[in-house]
Amino acid sequence: MRITDCRYDRDRQRLAVAYRLISHEARTYTIRQCTGLSGDRIRKLYREYVKGQPVRPVRRRRGKSPRQMAFFWRSPSHELQAATLAALLNRCGLLSSPQVLFRPTLEEVATFCDVYDTFRILCPETVITFEHAWYLMQVLARLDEFVLARCPDCQALWIRDTLDLLPDNCPACRSGPYVA
Ligand SMILES: [Zn+2]
Repeated sequence: MRITDCRYDRDRQRLAVAYRLISHEARTYTIRQCTGLSGDRIRKLYREYVKGQPVRPVRRRRGKSPRQMAFFWRSPSHELQAATLAALLNRCGLLSSPQVLFRPTLEEVATFCDVYDTFRILCPETVITFEHAWYLMQVLARLDEFVLARCPDCQALWIRDTLDLLPDNCPACRSGPYVA
């Protein structure tokens, strides 16, 4: 394969990933971080995408991305959904890749989109947006203040606060088996 063909394929892959991110209503900052495309290019892609989607136009998110882990502790349901998402991210190797913190590869971003799509099938009514999910991955991949761990009581995966400011077992054990 010639170098120009490789570049063409790479560009096509980059655009395909960018479209997926736009369809998930990712913020421009996140799309730039994930694809390396310029803000101007992303705005053009967004306009093209909207033109092709008359039924359900996506909103272009502005402003800051979520930056608060407290969001995932708003209720036992939030906690359980975050743990489900984190378990999927872990299974796909995204929590053990230091690269996702700085410059994720296009393949990693595409895998992340697959994980989020799967998560939405498992939790269709979730309040965890794509941006929340991206933030959660970045926090957990640092293996610092918050980690995916086994609950000491039931061995289920849950998100543990390593500073132990939050409860020391999983939301299911705290709330009983029928959490909505
Ligand atoms: Zn438990």
